[in-house]
Amino acid sequence: MALSEFDLIAKYFAACGAPRADVLLGVGDDCALLHPPPKSLLALTTDTLVAGVHFAPGVDPESLGHKSLAVNLSDLAAMGAEPAWATLALTLPQADESWLEAFSRGLCQLAKTHGVRLIGGDTTRGPMSITIQAAGFVSPERVMRRSGAQPGDLIYVTGTLGDAGLALLARRGRHLPMALLPGIRRRLDWPTPRIAAGKALAGIASAAIDISDGLVGDLGHILEASGVGASLFLDLLPLGEAVADYVAATDDWSLPLAAGDDYELCLTLSADHQEQVEAIAQTLDCRLTWVGLIERAKGLRCVLPDGKRFDRLPNSYDHFRAGS
Ligand code: ADP
Ligand code: MG
Repeated sequence: MALSEFDLIAKYFAACGAPRADVLLGVGDDCALLHPPPKSLLALTTDTLVAGVHFAPGVDPESLGHKSLAVNLSDLAAMGAEPAWATLALTLPQADESWLEAFSRGLCQLAKTHGVRLIGGDTTRGPMSITIQAAGFVSPERVMRRSGAQPGDLIYVTGTLGDAGLALLARRGRHLPMALLPGIRRRLDWPTPRIAAGKALAGIASAAIDISDGLVGDLGHILEASGVGASLFLDLLPLGEAVADYVAATDDWSLPLAAGDDYELCLTLSADHQEQVEAIAQTLDCRLTWVGLIERAKGLRCVLPDGKRFDRLPNSYDHFRAGS
């Protein structure tokens, strides 16, 4: 027998994620009731994933559940926030139990890992789309905005860049060495929100953003909001083995510079904090790499390994740009 809307919510989403003392009332009433901590700012973010735009309709539902939450947690990480709550607006063409079971497993496992409780949502029938809103806490002195970068600041990125973009190319038919494929695919389908890095660098970083649309575009948002420019040194970009091979073979830097879906952080920090940052880097489970400098002169300059200017700067993904 087909599952009713309310059975579906009760079975897959009513007890999802980590139980939290600050949730007075979660799934089941007209609203959730919450106790935000009195001295923190509430950081709120929403992201939607649409079938055919953000994921192929047949994608593994467990990874989709993970990724739907991960992209939101990545936004919280970029503010230096500690994740707490999430809501889920789910539109499905039908109530397919094996799909729901896997999707909720991926979602709820990541929620648990980060101490997040699913506190409500909405369930409707229609073309598949997933909207999650995530909430977290950050103290006013520690929050990282896009607007705080200063000339002289160092630019750092977490993890490695371009892996998810390469996985997309592989999915569209580009040949990759077999040994490198699983790692690259994981980076596209199971992104890791850099929560620990965001929290560790909050209060030190002058600005931060998460890299969802490519480094050039996302660093560009910091530059614009801060009224500054920057130089990026391409030989410093942290590349995994597969992307490094790709760049060496093609001389094409568009993957690490402009491919989306990496969900790493890009942060700017005063050079006075460099030693402290290098010490923090040792405590993180991801790389933290110095890649460039904030400068007074507006615009982004990319410097090739041979010292020459690279001026074929690729565009980042834009949903409304012609040809996107
Ligand atoms: P209402 O009609 O009052 O908006 P709903 O019938 O849509 O409430 O939802 C009933 C309860 O289930 C609410 O607490 C809502 O937040 C929760 N809920 C609905 N869909 C989801 C979902 N996909 N995930 C988590 N909670 C959900
Ligand atoms: Mg109601």
